[in-house]
Amino acid sequence: MKTSDRRIFLLQLAACSAAVPLGARAEAAKVEETDPQAVTLGYRHDTTKVDKKKYPKHDAAQKCSTCQLFQGKATDAFGPCPLFAGKQVANNGWCSAWVKKPG
Ligand code: SF4
Repeated sequence: MKTSDRRIFLLQLAACSAAVPLGARAEAAKVEETDPQAVTLGYRHDTTKVDKKKYPKHDAAQKCSTCQLFQGKATDAFGPCPLFAGKQVANNGWCSAWVKKPG
């Protein structure tokens, strides 16, 4: 390999390394409020936007971060929920399957 070829190869390698950092992983998609499962469960990204007429027992203190099914950390803006496999729900979200986290 000529010196110039090796230089080009090393520049290409550096460019590829910068474009795709090692250890990078795809972040799970966020649930859309229009997702059929979300519509069925009345999911909203913002618990204060829940339809009060449709869900009269809803309380604004109920949100995904206080739900037993939320799998993110309390400080995460979004986190996984088993009801929406492979997608993330909002920390401040809510759906009709909300169950108070123990403790
Ligand atoms: Fe949020 Fe709980 Fe409904 Fe999952 S089940 S979307 S964590 S309220």
